[in-house]
Amino acid sequence: MTDADDTVEVWVDRTDALPVVHRPVIEVDDVWKTYRTGTLEVDALRGVSFAIERGEYVAVMGPSGSGKSTLMHILGCLDVPTSGRFLLAGDDVGGMTEEDLAHARNRRIGFVFQQFNLLASLSAWRNVELPLLYAGVDRPERRRRAVVALERVGLGDRIQHRPGELSGGQQQRVAVARALVTDPDLILADEPTGNLDSVSAHDVLGLLDEVHRSGRTVVLITHDADVAARSGRVMRIRDGQIGDATPVGAGAAGADVP
Ligand code: ADP
Repeated sequence: MTDADDTVEVWVDRTDALPVVHRPVIEVDDVWKTYRTGTLEVDALRGVSFAIERGEYVAVMGPSGSGKSTLMHILGCLDVPTSGRFLLAGDDVGGMTEEDLAHARNRRIGFVFQQFNLLASLSAWRNVELPLLYAGVDRPERRRRAVVALERVGLGDRIQHRPGELSGGQQQRVAVARALVTDPDLILADEPTGNLDSVSAHDVLGLLDEVHRSGRTVVLITHDADVAARSGRVMRIRDGQIGDATPVGAGAAGADVP
């Protein structure tokens, strides 16, 4: 897949009044990212183009140094391309101010990290409500939505527990609840099982399968082929370039979920 324009499908729903146009959640077109350190330049991404449709489950796989983190930072609106375009649900991220980027991160993307990134002093529901706090949602509504999200990940009976009182797998479930609580366009998971034993890893991957089956768009970054095999499509990155995408496991079935 070399040209996003060739692969992007835009479809139209007819409502009573106006047609609603659905864009892919992610459109990346000829993105380059160059890091400059003194006189040294490193092209971490070299002309990357792809699209991810709503409801897809895509794994980005590649060896260390291939550009996975750089791509994750761009898809997560944590950084912007040096050149090329990245559209998030149809909006051009390149034209966004720092404030717009923070807003996009908060409202439109749910992050799941290898290290969980939970605040140790806060209970599970307090951790899960944080994105809603930043979004200005009032406290009763924050608590209600945090509890619903924790119930969805099977932790309805652990809402008052702090991270230190939960297993690694449960902590990652809390992180998934936090990622879901804002009802984002995209769940971005960076090596989500990298810190877990095999049983907990299996458990968290099962949860991501459920998240995907419920119609969410999931992008998972991993170096682990077994983890990638859970997705519907594997995009391989090497030396800052994307190779051919390979359709794989059960995740492919959700690719047409609107
Ligand atoms: P991966 O996540 O696949 O290990 P990265 O995206 O971290 O790969 O790195 C891709 C390339 O960009 C590597 O050659 C790395 O050394 C370089 N790189 C990453 N971040 C920086 C940075 N902040 N400054 C300079 N070079 C960087």
